Order: sequence, then C-alpha cells, then structure tokens
Amino acid sequence: MPDATATAKELLARLVAFDTVSAKSNIPLIQFVEDYLAGHGIAAQRVPTPDGQKASLFASIGPTGSPGLALSGHTDVVPVAGQSWDSDPFTLTERDGRLYGRGSCDMKGYLACALAMVPEFKRRRLQLPIHLAFSYDEEVGCTGVRPMIAELGKRLPLPRLVFVGEPTEMGVVDAHKGPVRWRVELTGRAAHSSMPHLGVNAIAYATRLIGELLLMEEELKAGDQDPRFDPPFTSLQITQIEGGTASNVVPVPCWFGWEIRGLPGFDPMQLDRRLKAYALTNCLPQMRRTAPEAAITIAATNQVPAYAADVASGIVPLTLKLAGQNKTNAVSYCTEAGLFQDGGAPAIVCGPGNIAQAHTANEFLSLAELEKCLSFLGRLADWAEA
Ligand SMILES: [Zn+2]
Repeated sequence: MPDATATAKELLARLVAFDTVSAKSNIPLIQFVEDYLAGHGIAAQRVPTPDGQKASLFASIGPTGSPGLALSGHTDVVPVAGQSWDSDPFTLTERDGRLYGRGSCDMKGYLACALAMVPEFKRRRLQLPIHLAFSYDEEVGCTGVRPMIAELGKRLPLPRLVFVGEPTEMGVVDAHKGPVRWRVELTGRAAHSSMPHLGVNAIAYATRLIGELLLMEEELKAGDQDPRFDPPFTSLQITQIEGGTASNVVPVPCWFGWEIRGLPGFDPMQLDRRLKAYALTNCLPQMRRTAPEAAITIAATNQVPAYAADVASGIVPLTLKLAGQNKTNAVSYCTEAGLFQDGGAPAIVCGPGNIAQAHTANEFLSLAELEKCLSFLGRLADWAEA
C-alpha cells in the first residue's frame, strides 16, 4: 500500500508537530484528528477533562450497533527537556529509513497508521466497526484513558477487542506488570540536635519503614516467579526521599516514595496493609510518646493494573495470525491494555517501533515498522470484512 505509507508519513509529521508533552493541552492535535476524520465523513466524540484542556477521542468506521475492533493509542508524549537531539524533536525528520521525532515511536506512529487506513477501512464492507480510541496522559500514570473507558458500553460502544499499539515491533504482547506507587509522609517534632530526646526524628522513623520495605523486597524476589518477565518476580523499589531542614535540627518532615511492578494476579494492597500495620505498631506509639502530633501517612498515588490477555476472547490467536507471529511476549513496562480489559474490553498490545527508542533523544520509527503496521491493519480489515 504505497499510498497508505505516504499518507501515514504525512500524518505522522503533522502529529509530531503538535507538542503534546503530557503537561500541555492536546486539544490542537485532537482538533486536527477531528477535522481529518470529518474530511472522510466520520464524526468523532470527545471525552474532555473538566477544564477542557485535554480530551480523548473516539470514532467509529463501519456498521453501527455491533461491537467492533478498537485501535487504541495515547496522544501525549514524554518531555524532551535535558535530552540532546540531532534534529528538532517536533519536526519529523527522515534519515536513513528512519523517521525521527518525539512520539514517532511512542506512539504517534501507530495513530498515524490508524488514521492513514481510514479511507481503506471506509472502502471495505466491514461486518463489524473499527473504532479509534485516542487518549491523553498515558505517560503520567495512564490516567487520561480512564474517563473514556468509563463511557464504554454507555455513551460509547464497548469494543469487542482492543488493539493497543504501543511499540512492540509488531510482536504480540499478551501480559505486562502493573505499577503501583506510594507516597509516605512522616511528621516528627523539632528539637535542637544536641537534645534529641526532646524531639521525634522523622528521618529515623522513615528508615524503619524503609527497612520493612527492603524486607518485603527480598521476600518478593524469593516469591512467585514468572520466567516470561524480566525480572521474573514482582519488584519493589524505594524511588525518592527527602527530609530534614537543617544540620543541627531534629528533622520534623520526611517523605519518601516507593513503587512495585506487580506480576499479573499479584495483590498490591497486601503490601499497603503490611506497611500500615508496621507503622501502627512499630513507629507511631513511640513517636507519640514524645509528640502526640506525630503522624505517618501512607497513600497509593497511582495504580495501573497488571495485564494478562483474556484467553476466552480469542484475541491472542487472532493477533498472532494478523501479525504473522508464532509466539507472544510479556513485558515489564505498562500500557492501557489492563485498564481496557478491566473495563470489559479484551485487549492486546501490538504496535510499530521498538520500546528501546521510546522516551529517548533521537526517538525514531523505522519506515519498515510503519509499513509492517499498515499491513497488519490491512489484514485486520480483511478479518473485519469476512
Ligand atoms: Zn506509550
């Protein structure tokens, strides 16, 4: 499909030119996609944020009234700050068969392919509709897709199958881990550091909690193993820490962050409960003996469900066939697939580009990957037509 390739490249150049770093509005990009679809006679629906600064977009091609196939991707990209690029990250630049630009791989390349195929999808006698489901704020905890998923089966049709086009080099990913992040805040009492018995040292108590977390980390390493993942267990990390105010003051504030990457089926809340119980029995009573105002709060700040493909949906063998693959993969990064699945729409992850290029300086998508993706979508249309 040489025409589709040219169209996809052109569309990718347009999409990359919108600076949709997660902190910024994606509305200009959404407006562009709406106009493009309208040009092909397709109406799209927005699911906007309350302040109207961002929106997801949902559109359908083909028959109405039957559950269809959704092509899903996020419109936001990670920042370029601090990265050294050889060309302007927001100007798609072709060099040696590669298309360079922020988001080319993760994942505007997939969006461009899906949009480029719209005229082809329209031409087909589709037996079931093909939906486009474009989200925002994926890169900041998969938060933007959630209001759209909440509308599926209500204002928007619930897709039968969802194809999440995160970069897999068109391999088939049928499982990923689920990240959960926590913020722990401790409040002690200030005192001159020469008179520590008059204060409560928040940093010292934070180290106790961290000690308990490090124990948990060791237990998780020795616990359930799934060799499809690297590392093959639920991992736990302390990710951030900050505390104290001066070199001669018993520190009042301390906070730290920790996260896990849970295997599918792992219950992250067991760790939440355990750390809270530890704080209640091993920290707070002692802290409050000196300072009744002492406090510890442990709050999950973001959770993306782990994902394992819904076997009964048939989406795995179908995607393997369409992608010309004979085995599936499991990955440690996360996607919106688990959220779609929890919302009642079985999902699979398969898209162009290599995750190694995502988020980096000189991010690129090879033309070969773009073409592989267009062929995949062509075969998907064949299947939807039959
Ligand atoms: Zn992505």
